[in-house]
Amino acid sequence: MSKMRLAIVGAGPAGIYAADLLLKAERDFEVEIDLFEQLPAPYGLVRYGVSPDHPRIKGIINALRDVLDSGQIRFFGNVRYGQDLTLDDLKLHYNAVIFSTGAIRDAMLGVPGIDAEGSYGAADFVSWFDGHPDVPRTWPLEAASVGVIGNGNVALDVSRMLIKHADDLLVTEIPENVYEGLKANPIEELHLFGRRGPKYVKFTPLELRELGEVRDVDMVIDERDFAHADPYADEVLAKNKQVTVMTRIMDKWRDEQRAREAGEVEPSSRRLHLHFWSKPVEVVVEDGNVVGLKVERTAPDGEGGVVDTGEFEVIPMQSLYRAIGYFGSPLDEIPFDESRGVIPNDRGRVLDLEGSQVPGVYATGWIKRGPVGLIGHTKSDAMETLEQLMADSETWWQPEQGDAGTIPELLSERGVPYTNLDGWHRLDEHELSLGEVAGRTRIKVVSRDEMTRISRGE
Ligand code: NAP
Repeated sequence: MSKMRLAIVGAGPAGIYAADLLLKAERDFEVEIDLFEQLPAPYGLVRYGVSPDHPRIKGIINALRDVLDSGQIRFFGNVRYGQDLTLDDLKLHYNAVIFSTGAIRDAMLGVPGIDAEGSYGAADFVSWFDGHPDVPRTWPLEAASVGVIGNGNVALDVSRMLIKHADDLLVTEIPENVYEGLKANPIEELHLFGRRGPKYVKFTPLELRELGEVRDVDMVIDERDFAHADPYADEVLAKNKQVTVMTRIMDKWRDEQRAREAGEVEPSSRRLHLHFWSKPVEVVVEDGNVVGLKVERTAPDGEGGVVDTGEFEVIPMQSLYRAIGYFGSPLDEIPFDESRGVIPNDRGRVLDLEGSQVPGVYATGWIKRGPVGLIGHTKSDAMETLEQLMADSETWWQPEQGDAGTIPELLSERGVPYTNLDGWHRLDEHELSLGEVAGRTRIKVVSRDEMTRISRGE
């Protein structure tokens, strides 16, 4: 074979890294890569999942942009797989496809009351504050007391965005509607719940430290949470450098709390309460609305897990966010593991439900391995998938239409208002100029129609 045509579905870091690695790989054939994305703009989770007050991580976009701008990849935005383009279309035009569609839904928490008014998934809130075009423009921020379940970095993002004063976010790229919404947020208390102890958190030190640096917020600690005898934590976890650093951060917060209690420091206007050893058991609901979270106190079992104690507490709140993990979405005609929210695969080779390889179909990123790991981990993941893809050339599809012109023609015939790389540059410049006028780096355009119109120069 002298030339391979590859379709990649999903233009987040996973898809873009896969394209980059294939272009750079040693191979004895040419490649043509078409990158399809359901949103009008590329970059997936970096644009729509990373918190706006994390410019360093958002900066990954610069590296991703270099890949897209290399001139070796075509970008088709605003194209929905399964709707605008089917698996049969891909088989007609390409030798193989890699799905890199990520995970953008919230994992479900099976406790009574979770569907009440005022109970939200973190992923939906993140989509709102990151200006995702497919979520409503307004978000109900009316609660003075708010709960966040989970001890991972998403829980930290959500907590920071809820507890920060909106004016402190004006240096970021948050859209106008998000600033207006956060400005009216009456929050005073935020309660963050972990079902295990302070040494078992999934936070990373940098992000945890940052939470304590938010202006006008006191970190409130329950000393009972630090009183357990826990040989496993002392012997096993204490050897972990990250755990040691995070323990030190929390110890500093405990000292600050003691100083506040002694009247040595002025209290802030907002408080962030850390609740460890607190397993959610029920969302307390009145007249259909969240009024509290009932938790059962847990204790270390000596092996890294917990035991229930039969001791319950209710913390009053008017809204609740669960940040207990993301979950992938099924794709048309592609096998899906409903229990894990991933495409079943062997090192990236997609498998059917009997465990046999589906020829020509591959997966990478969170839809392949589940929603864990930092953005950088996606690179080694993409490499693994590409190794399988390259080894499989015998079983690739044999497209009838291998001509680069036919895909834009097909999309135009179907009336799909797709965007391309030039269009993305237009939108990018438009957002930067909106920011410049307001003295900010960027202001995101949120509406899908407006994004598409600007991209297409209409
Ligand atoms: P995560 O790191 O897996 O954390 C999930 C949290 O939810 C854990 O504390 C887990 O507790 C808890 N949880 C799960 N099921 C629960 C239940 N039924 N009841 C109570 N708690 C429950 O997931 P994530 O926060 O969604 O983050 C996903 C990945 O993205 C991570 O690798 C994260 O580091 C990364 N990320 C990074 C950043 C950054 O700024 N660097 C920002 C966002 C996300 P257990 O530990 O007890 O299971």
